[in-house]
Amino acid sequence: MENISEIVARQREYFESGKTLNVKERKRSLVALYNAIKANLPALHEGLKKDLGKSDTESYMCETGFALSELSYMIKHINKFAKPQKVKTPLAQAISKSYRLPSPYGTVLIMNPWNYPVLLSIDPLVAAVAAGNTVVLKLSEYSPNTNEAIKKVISSVFPPEHVAVLFGGLQVNTELMQTGFDYIFFTGSKMVGKLVYQSAAQRLTPVTLELGGKSPCIVDESANIRLAAKRIVFGKFLNLGQTCVAPDYIFCAEKIHDELVAEIKKQIKTQFGENPLENPAYGKIINEKHYVRICGLIDENKVVYGGKKDQERLKIEPTVLDGVTYDDAVMQEEIFGPVLPVLTYREEGEVIKYIKENDAPLALYIFSSDKQRIKKFTTGIGFGGGCVNDVIIHLATPYMPFGGFGASGIGGYHGKASFDTFTHYKSIVNKSTAIDLPMRYQPYKKSNEKLIKKFLH
Ligand code: NAD
Repeated sequence: MENISEIVARQREYFESGKTLNVKERKRSLVALYNAIKANLPALHEGLKKDLGKSDTESYMCETGFALSELSYMIKHINKFAKPQKVKTPLAQAISKSYRLPSPYGTVLIMNPWNYPVLLSIDPLVAAVAAGNTVVLKLSEYSPNTNEAIKKVISSVFPPEHVAVLFGGLQVNTELMQTGFDYIFFTGSKMVGKLVYQSAAQRLTPVTLELGGKSPCIVDESANIRLAAKRIVFGKFLNLGQTCVAPDYIFCAEKIHDELVAEIKKQIKTQFGENPLENPAYGKIINEKHYVRICGLIDENKVVYGGKKDQERLKIEPTVLDGVTYDDAVMQEEIFGPVLPVLTYREEGEVIKYIKENDAPLALYIFSSDKQRIKKFTTGIGFGGGCVNDVIIHLATPYMPFGGFGASGIGGYHGKASFDTFTHYKSIVNKSTAIDLPMRYQPYKKSNEKLIKKFLH
């Protein structure tokens, strides 16, 4: 295989040739990508089954189908997005036209985690290509089976000088970090995010960081408890909790604690069966390292449901921990596994204080029918995005950007925001040569001052 600097050099040459500036050609390649994904659904789903134990339904719902819908959206809107956008011109610059010219950055790097390997590759890739960039796509070393299928799909559509797909671990990552890119789009952990940001700072490379963290889920006494439990169980145990926006832990009002925990247990049984470890639609932990890490977060004395594990098959039951305190191991890091701690509050102020004292979460969920409380939580706490009376679904829309801030990330994407992420908008004033007002030129005249003040005040 060529080395990374050769790949990047060829991509830069390709970019400089101007080929990626042709919007018709961009659209054609997106349509080809759409068709290639559709044609390769069985191979992509097979990879996801091997790497994460995902069922075909879940793979389509959360990865391939979702990616296809972002692709359709981009195909439908690319002509409009790629057009120069006319804007108003202030009176002081009269007799000119102003516009924002969408321009690609050049050669961009996209780095991925393993938990939604198809979706998190295709989504940013589509936007980067739609915006006219060349792309080096680096997949996580932990999802090798899906990676092969992704590479096959992408290389059937794009030559490597346009989009190159790389696998690999530390060595490839280190080399990539030493290579100059025009934009870096990173999805992964806070720890690696910091390294990527530091390295990008050396060249002042702009970045998007899509990170994770502990996303709280609040359930108050006015909530529809049965529905809350149903939706929380869905969102928490989807992909065995290996979802960046999974509700990490529950904060519930003391009054409804018993009812909520009982409903959660019922829901786990209903959704995953009596023996989830034998449920073929219940997946697996990505690897032994993460399996051991997650097991270390389970305090056996606090398990009130689930808790069974199978190291050989890397499976852990949906597990509920009750009576959890801030000091427990499970509250010290993002869980990223099928373990649901339940904490109880008396005063809503305790909840707000705790969340504010910790890293700004990527998501926040509140189950409540109390409008005042919903307003207080959604406006009074900093977080990336979230839902009222649901979990996770706020990212399943092209009409709002998805992303965090601070420790949960920088920037956002999806839909138009994805195109904007990979686009630099040049602000351009095109001035008429017919008239040339004299007042800005030296020598300044007292008589012009009045006119200047009319324009600028
Ligand atoms: P990770 O940070 O370990 O790895 C992400 C990518 O970075 C991989 O491609 C990996 O090979 C690469 N990498 C690892 N070490 C590196 C280094 N030293 N220098 C440069 N690159 C390096 O994350 P992960 O374990 O793959 O994914 C889990 C994390 O990702 C969780 O924190 C989760 O919340 C987050 N996540 C966020 C989103 C989001 O959209 N915000 C989506 C999925 C996952």
